[in-house]
Amino acid sequence: MIHVWNHCHNCNAAPIVGRRFHCESCPDGPDTDLCGPCYEKFKEGKIIHPAEDSSAALLEIKEHRFEVLEGKPPDQYESWLPISHPAAPTPGTPGHFVVRPIFSAGMESFIGGYAFAAKVEENSGPLLLTALHVMDEIIKQKGIDCSEQNKSYTGRELPAIITHVDIYDIFAPNWMMAHLGTAGPMLVLPNARTGGEEPYSDRDIAAFRMRDAGRLTPVPLAHRPPVVGDPVWQAARSPEKPGRQLFKAVVVEITDRTLVFKYENQGKKPKYISGSPVLNKNGEIVGISVGGGEFKGALLGHANHVGNIREHLTGNAF
Ligand SMILES: [Zn+2]
Ligand SMILES: [Zn+2]
Repeated sequence: MIHVWNHCHNCNAAPIVGRRFHCESCPDGPDTDLCGPCYEKFKEGKIIHPAEDSSAALLEIKEHRFEVLEGKPPDQYESWLPISHPAAPTPGTPGHFVVRPIFSAGMESFIGGYAFAAKVEENSGPLLLTALHVMDEIIKQKGIDCSEQNKSYTGRELPAIITHVDIYDIFAPNWMMAHLGTAGPMLVLPNARTGGEEPYSDRDIAAFRMRDAGRLTPVPLAHRPPVVGDPVWQAARSPEKPGRQLFKAVVVEITDRTLVFKYENQGKKPKYISGSPVLNKNGEIVGISVGGGEFKGALLGHANHVGNIREHLTGNAF
């Protein structure tokens, strides 16, 4: 049994083979899992959790509670490997639409991964979209349970405490000096949740009205999700130098609940990509990045696709 969407933050095993130990106390992210042998070492005090360079290391978490997961049989992922990458030119995109959000709740603020400015229809106002789990630090700190297990979450609890979002240019050499605008209030999305089983990312979404779009240029949401074999591009920080990179990929699975893609280049990928946009060949948004993984050397990503994004936003006016 394997865990395609998880790697061990101690020994870097990817995927994790056998039982996976997932820390429920750390904010959701790429450094929350250990493989079986590393978990044994952790219990003996021989390794450090959370990882020293992770965001969780900066938090004061008294106790780390681990959940044990068994994984999935590997044969179900084999069909993704032979799907080939179609030749396609990189789509044109505006300068400022992928951003770093800082969420504020009164006097406190929390840095998120990525967010982006999007336009639902031709004449609608801009929205700031991201994955809900990039807000996991604030969610856990405020004791708000918006996980799939909590049936009583209404979608109003989190918007009630988020006062605004400051938006920065994530691609600037010193992003904290590059304020681009502000967003808020947060939209009430009753079906948005954290903690879904990967790659089922259909509920992982957060949306904000734009208060001051500043220098942002919103990008249109596509009208339909891509199909298997279509090229897509994930926009994120280059892992080597400041600036944006569009990582080309091919869609290998699309269902009601997920969009899975396989990267073309197997080189270095940025690690914290959650909340970044996935684009089609026309440069329109087809998904919100939610996670990544590895299978037999192929680098993979999955996203909450535009079909589900549109369903969540239905009933909201902007
Ligand atoms: Zn390990
Ligand atoms: Zn932990």
